[in-house]
Amino acid sequence: MNASRLNMKKLKPDGDSPSQTQGISPLQVVSIDTDRNRGALAASPPLEPTEALLAELKRESERLESASPQEILSWAVERFAPKFTMATAFGPEGMTIIHMLSEIAPKTPIFNLDTGYQFDETLRLREQVNERYGIEVELKKPELSVEEYERVNGGPVYATDPNRCCFDRKLSLLHEAARGQHAWASAIRRDQSEDRAKAPIVGWDRKFQLVKVSPLANWTKREVWSLITSKNIPYNPLHDQGFPSVGCRPCTRAVLPGEDERAGRWSGFKKTECGLHN
Ligand code: SF4
Repeated sequence: MNASRLNMKKLKPDGDSPSQTQGISPLQVVSIDTDRNRGALAASPPLEPTEALLAELKRESERLESASPQEILSWAVERFAPKFTMATAFGPEGMTIIHMLSEIAPKTPIFNLDTGYQFDETLRLREQVNERYGIEVELKKPELSVEEYERVNGGPVYATDPNRCCFDRKLSLLHEAARGQHAWASAIRRDQSEDRAKAPIVGWDRKFQLVKVSPLANWTKREVWSLITSKNIPYNPLHDQGFPSVGCRPCTRAVLPGEDERAGRWSGFKKTECGLHN
């Protein structure tokens, strides 16, 4: 491994884990990246969160509160493409947005944060998206393979410090992918959690330093599944086996009757989000 290259590319974590700043090992984050190198600030031309931009985003977010997801996506494409991108974990909401983008702006670059721990069923959806829509979802991979990562850390990090594992294998990739973009689409719904309930339709994402667009913020799970069914949109077969939310294999379990739809994620830890949306 080229340590200096790794350090150049790594970013300072956003306080996701206390252990991230203690006892720094060769794989932990040691360099500090400034905002200027992040997200839309690194774009050409850069997009800066000026008062004027923030006012525009607030105004548009309020206006789009009553718009359909397709109208929100159309606005975002018109305003930000070709510097508009989407990250997907191939969940039902993400598949819904991919379906909509295939009709609105099929050239929108879409990527998946391929931690190396994803289910085979999840990765097969990438092929199905290509077959159905002709869209090639790019896999963004961490610098170290799972084997290398676990070897240098003395075992699986997800078992002891899932925040650091998520940072190393997901968030750092999104920081990398966000650099040079102006905006990204997220598939969150407000009714998924207390954190997500506060999400605007459009807003400035301080963590990744770019505009975040959430076209499904006002949709319900029922609306998502209704579109999936009526349009025959491909979806992860694990959803039919008790997994309403599918993340990485080691950190996802089936939920029990009556449990919250995200209860199967990081079960046994206080963690409820990977850090992309909070
Ligand atoms: S979900 Fe689990 S395995 Fe995946 S990156 Fe986070 S901690 Fe690691």
